[in-house]
Amino acid sequence: MSITAGLVIVVSGPGGVGKGTIVRHLVERDDALWLSRSWTTRERRPGEDENAYVFTTRSQFESRINANGFVEWTEFLGNYYGTPAPENVTERDLVLEIEVDGARQVKSQHPEALLIFVLPPSRDEQERRLRGRGDEEHKVEARLRKAEEEEPIGAALADYVVINDDLEATVDEMLEIISRERAARRP
Ligand code: ADP
Ligand code: 5GP
Repeated sequence: MSITAGLVIVVSGPGGVGKGTIVRHLVERDDALWLSRSWTTRERRPGEDENAYVFTTRSQFESRINANGFVEWTEFLGNYYGTPAPENVTERDLVLEIEVDGARQVKSQHPEALLIFVLPPSRDEQERRLRGRGDEEHKVEARLRKAEEEEPIGAALADYVVINDDLEATVDEMLEIISRERAARRP
């Protein structure tokens, strides 16, 4: 199924690395990008934007799975997350901010998709970011453990690996990658 007339750009990486922050900056700076809003069954974090996701129940999510309504979906640390199939095919380049299993599914359906995998400068810094965001202690630990599993798989699948040390430098680097890939794919 075609989901965009443009590029599919997958931004993946372990929890707390800064993916959500980065993609917000990308879409603010580049009008040709369109950010997909995922569905999730996890609860909204205190202070989290109510539009960060479509927050749903498990049964709503499962109905949409049964109706083939997701481009990809997975279960991550006990909750469902999925990219809804867009209602209209966009002309813009579609940005998906998703974990590694979803990235693998998108790459297998859309081999031309551009996959950028984001790593933290260190595990300690990732931990600081998770705590700073207000994640509960057991969630911090679960996300750090999950990162050990996700990183080798994500880095092997990726077209580019970017280390999110300084935020502005990371956003600049990713905009450069996107612009290079657009030029390379132009007919
Ligand atoms: P993810 O979407 O990967 O789980 P978030 O975007 O929620 O991560 O970022 C986790 C926390 O780290 C947030 O509080 C965010 O403001 C902060 N953050 C993101 N990028 C950086 C950076 N380069 N340097 C310092 N803090 C950052
Ligand atoms: P969080 O609970 O921290 O918001 O998200 C947990 C993980 O799920 C993150 O790695 C995030 O990128 C990923 N995620 C968010 N939306 C989707 C989605 O639609 N599909 C998949 N596969 N992963 C998602």
